[in-house]
Amino acid sequence: MDAPPRGRFAPTPSGALHVGSARTAVASALAVWSAGGRFLLRVEDLDAARAAPGATAAMLADLRWIGLDWDEGPDVGGPAGPYAQRDRAPLYQATLAWLRDRGLVYPCACSRRDLEQAAQAPHGAEPVYPGTCRDDDPAAVLARARALGRGVSWRFRTDPDAPPVIVRDRVSAPITQQVHRDVGDFVVMRADGVAAYQLAVVVDDLAMGVTEVVRGDDLLASTPRQVALYEGLGGRAPRWAHLPLVLGGDGARLAKRSGSMGIAALRERGVPAAWLRGWLLESLGARDQGTLRASAGGFDVGAVDPSPVVWRAPAAGASS
Ligand code: GLU
Repeated sequence: MDAPPRGRFAPTPSGALHVGSARTAVASALAVWSAGGRFLLRVEDLDAARAAPGATAAMLADLRWIGLDWDEGPDVGGPAGPYAQRDRAPLYQATLAWLRDRGLVYPCACSRRDLEQAAQAPHGAEPVYPGTCRDDDPAAVLARARALGRGVSWRFRTDPDAPPVIVRDRVSAPITQQVHRDVGDFVVMRADGVAAYQLAVVVDDLAMGVTEVVRGDDLLASTPRQVALYEGLGGRAPRWAHLPLVLGGDGARLAKRSGSMGIAALRERGVPAAWLRGWLLESLGARDQGTLRASAGGFDVGAVDPSPVVWRAPAAGASS
């Protein structure tokens, strides 16, 4: 018999938790609880510059307010800790060294600006890496970066001859990507020594034994890169379920910072937690059985409607 599944919610504490993230969190928990598994909370606070002070504590409080709890996490501990990425840097460095010893990563002295100029990509778009430093002697790249007063980033060496990665998703349509051609060698360690999201998420999901990833479909396009990393690390990729966005009533995407759909803002407006729990469960096709854990029975994340959900806030004074 397969071991019980392990799932996680892995938010970045960069702003107020909103309805869309809460929905993802609930879906992640139900997906594993329904199969007798464990639900983990991991705080993706890699980027100290983006983390607002107190944001992690506020986010955990918002999740608890909607009635969510977790079997392992930063505030409750567990066997796979630490559960905050900021405390996991040595693991990312050790993984980088492992990849480096196998020639799977190489140093790159290019700045984002160099690459944007080379590709003439519109500002902010992620250009396909042209392979500038790929075949250089690593010592020469390090010397070049030093002369420019920069650190080096480290890029994953993608295989031009690999068959395309096909991600079969339990909710979204499958996607196919030839990572070398479509993205190029991507950064796994930034020039400032902070692990890139792509590396950290794969290292952590592997180390934490995560078998089910349920997250927003804004990360679908990252998934083939992560599959390539699982292959490079010799690990088994989890099952994927990318949930559609929750749209505001005006059809616009809910941004993390959009206050009106923030969980805290709803609480302050007097929206009852039970009302919100009911809305979240209904939007996922689950029946409200009084608590989130009790509502997990029979939940199948693969049956979640793949079309975007429109958020409708209750009229002021709505009661449970
Ligand atoms: N930390 C990411 C975010 O908040 C999610 C990472 C993931 O679920 O893989 O967008």
